[in-house]
Amino acid sequence: MAALRPRRGPRARDLLPEGATYCRRCRSSWATILGRWCSACAERVADERVARYVRRRDGACVACGTTRQLTWAHILPRRYRRLRWDPRNAVTLCWPDHDWLDRHPARKREWVRERFPGLLERLEELKDRAPLPDLEEIIRTYGGAG
Ligand SMILES: [Zn+2]
Ligand SMILES: [Zn+2]
Repeated sequence: MAALRPRRGPRARDLLPEGATYCRRCRSSWATILGRWCSACAERVADERVARYVRRRDGACVACGTTRQLTWAHILPRRYRRLRWDPRNAVTLCWPDHDWLDRHPARKREWVRERFPGLLERLEELKDRAPLPDLEEIIRTYGGAG
């Protein structure tokens, strides 16, 4: 009865809600996140929103106090997806301090322990136990959906 089998699976469009549109950033994938972005672009948007939030929170490099060349830095690496957009795992660092700390991981741990007592231990617990991130919720929380 091979003839009764559909030749193809459902088209992508048929799986999407009425009125689905392309991602407003890449314009090539369907906008499945908040009706605005594809999931890959939504990750970039979440990165930008949380980076902006952390920069406003800290106001300057938390290591040296400069307000120049500021970057969004993770305490535990962003490959720990559960903590990638968690502001507790992020600080503002100037690029020279960020770069130096990344190249000296043992010194980075010492520095974090001294600067933020108890934080490293807390993050080590959370990295496998915190809820998996919800991109829509993160984007809404850190700056609305606009
Ligand atoms: Zn996209
Ligand atoms: Zn600095």
